[in-house]
Formats: sequence, C-alpha cells, structure tokens
Amino acid sequence: MFYGTWFRYDNKDSGYRDRRKCIVDQFNTRQVVAIDEEEPPLTRGDVLSSTSSNDLQTSWNRVVPRSHNSASMNKTKQFRKAFFPDATNQEWNDWHWQLSHRITTLEQITRYIDLTLEERQALELSVTQFPFSVTPYYLSLINLQDQNSALRKTVIPSIRESFTCEGESDDPLHEENTSPVPGIVHRYPDRVLFLTTSFCSVYCRYCTRSRLVGGHSEALEKHWKEAIEYIRNTPVIRDVVISGGDPLTLSDERIEYLLTEIFSIPHIEMVRIGTKVPVVLPQRITPQLLKILKRFKPLYLSVHCTHPDEITEESAKAFNNLADAGVVMGSQSVLLKGVNDSVETLTELYHQLLKVRVKPYYLFQCDPISGSAHFRTTVAKGKELIHGLRGFTSGYAIPQYVIDTPGGGGKVPILPEYEVGHDAGNLYLRNYEGRVFAYPDRAEEGTEN
Ligand code: SF4
Repeated sequence: MFYGTWFRYDNKDSGYRDRRKCIVDQFNTRQVVAIDEEEPPLTRGDVLSSTSSNDLQTSWNRVVPRSHNSASMNKTKQFRKAFFPDATNQEWNDWHWQLSHRITTLEQITRYIDLTLEERQALELSVTQFPFSVTPYYLSLINLQDQNSALRKTVIPSIRESFTCEGESDDPLHEENTSPVPGIVHRYPDRVLFLTTSFCSVYCRYCTRSRLVGGHSEALEKHWKEAIEYIRNTPVIRDVVISGGDPLTLSDERIEYLLTEIFSIPHIEMVRIGTKVPVVLPQRITPQLLKILKRFKPLYLSVHCTHPDEITEESAKAFNNLADAGVVMGSQSVLLKGVNDSVETLTELYHQLLKVRVKPYYLFQCDPISGSAHFRTTVAKGKELIHGLRGFTSGYAIPQYVIDTPGGGGKVPILPEYEVGHDAGNLYLRNYEGRVFAYPDRAEEGTEN
C-alpha cells in the first residue's frame, strides 16, 4: 500500500472543489499525478488494475454469466444406476448406508475411476498416514472420465502429497501450542475451538488437521469431559466452535450431549459447528437431527464448501432444512489451485450458496500443510479473485479472504488495494471499475482524530 503526501493545497482554498476534481481526474487518466518531490511519480498504471475502465458497460460485461445447471442431479442418478443398481432409495438416502459403503482403498476406487499414475502411486505406496475416504454420494458428483475434475482433485490422493516443501509443516497454525487441555485450541481471547472427533466421511487432501483426523472418534471423545470443564472454568469464553474432524458424523445422542453441556454454561453466548456434512453426506441432515439442532440457539453452522458442483438437489434440501430449523449458516472455502481459483467458479459457488441460504463467510488462503504445494495459489491470485467479485455481484456473495498466519498468529484479512493514497484532505479510493474517487477524510478544525 502506498501512502504519501502527493498533493499540496489548502482546504480553505476557494478553488478546492475544482482542484479535487482535477486530482481525481488525473487518477482516471493516463497523466502522471505526483506533485510532491519526495515521492516517486504515481501513474494511473500504478493504481489501476489492467482491467480498469471508465466505461460502465465494459465493467458490466464482466459479470459472470449464470451457468449452473441441473447436470449434477442426473450425475448422481446415472452413478447409482451404473454402480449401485440394487441399492434401494431408502438405503441410498440413509447416512449409515453411505458411511458403510465408503470407498477407502485402491481396489475399491479402481472400480469407478481409471486412476492417473500420480493417484495410483499414492494409493499403492500409502505414502501418507492421512487416509483416503469418499462417500458413494460424493463420488457420484465427480466426473469420473475427467482427470481434471475439480472435486476429484480434492479427495483422490496424489503422490504429490508426499513432497514436503520449504515452509510447510504438519501443524502450521501451531494449534498444539495453544491447546490448554486435549481437544481445546484457545488462540483468541473469547472463543475456543473444541476438537470433538477425528472422523470425517470424506477426507480432503488439503486438510489443515490431517495430522489428527482420520482416526477413530474415541481418541478425542475420551477428552470431552476435560474440555467441557475447561470451557466451564474459563468465563472469558463466550463462543465455542465445535469442530474436528466432522462433528456432524457423530450420533444424534453425542451431538445432543455436546450441545446440552455447552449451552448449559452461563457465559457461553453462541455455538458454532464446523462441518462438511451437508455437501458430502447430506443424508445425515435427518428430521431427528434437525429436531435436536432446533432446540439450541443461537447455533451457527460453518459449512466447508469448495466448488459449485457440491450444490445439488440433495445438499440444497439439507441446507434449506437446516435454515428452516433456525440454524444460521456461513460457508468456509479453501482457495485451491485448479479447483476453484477462478472468478467464474467462485461467483457461481457463492451464488448457489446464497440461493440455499448460506452466506459466504471465509475464503482461506491454503495453509502450508505438508504436501499441499500443488494446491496453493499465490496470495496475489487470491486478491485478484476478490477484486473480480467485489462490485460485480452482491456484497452478500463476497467472503472475507484471509490468511491463517503460520505460527498461530490467527486470521488476517487480505484485500486488494482499494486505498490508493491520501493527502491532507482526502482519501483516494479505487472502485471496482478501477476509477478513483476522493473521500473527504479530515478532522474538523480544532479537533483531533
Ligand atoms: S472435512 Fe474438514 S476436517 Fe475433515 S478432512 Fe475435510 S477439511 Fe479436514
């Protein structure tokens, strides 16, 4: 960000308005606008992106066309017909059936997909301790013939996971260092992360907690009482994030127990559940579960969503039922190279989520977890994507782009450069079209900021 004293003029100058217009016009033309000798010249090219234009129509042409169609509905039907012709509707729609038919081995997956060399090597050599698992439902969303299918990259292991690059580690966020008792991560003052299970129905190959997920629930469940006691004895905590693994893979009884215990603590004001279940195992959102969730308020769901292909008839039904039960939902997505790193894909994902009452909440820069280099984009790419969203779609469709800082520093928001400079009287802001406007940012005379 460039801040400098570029313009010298007196606010009381009678020609102030004209001058301000002149200055803004200078940003919006190709003239050099630097005035102060101490600062280097600033050209329009410095402050405006290559996509800038004064022509509204040009900007509007960049609106992403709505292209999501009903293909995903048919994909699942065709998949069932080809691979599970004997499964009844009742079985297919039963989350226990989905879990017991998960695809977890090389032999099983080769029934459905011709693996690439990199995928086969990963599964043959079991190069990673991080297990492989995908539900039949989620596999049905993948275009099996397409080696570049976005969802395929997120769940089918690749040998590239075994290459650890500089700067990567198994616990880049140093969660282990901010864990006062097993199962609790207490990084921020007023809220904690409660890791309740290490089980997920589908394992995402870029998972930040791959060091601890993939085991059995019991491993973390045995610490629940101690974790709840910690929350009870720490009055500064007002917000609990129940995470894992995926907590919605726990039984109804276990979920009810956790929510009852946590909501019974007087200083707890809200509870959040982090989950990917509505998109990988939407069958889990049963009437019984909804009845339990409905009893606890305020309850928020942070849903891990990656790509518009995840928003199907089934997941839409799950989301709508959750919303009807009073659950407030936000999405969390990880920015992934070759999966969702385009304005078109993100726009479509966020539009689809809003339609099913999920507010796009966070877009995470991919954490430097060991073996994740093939998933990571540059931060510049992330900024470019946010720049491509802001102004071109509803503000509600735009998540906060953040980096969870390595070393346990917490989340830091990252923004494209909208503030292009300031002087004694104005802050200069670049809008979504690349045009620069002045905001009168000055304290009243005789007052301090
Ligand atoms: S659902 Fe979450 S916890 Fe489970 S593997 Fe994916 S990212 Fe990790």
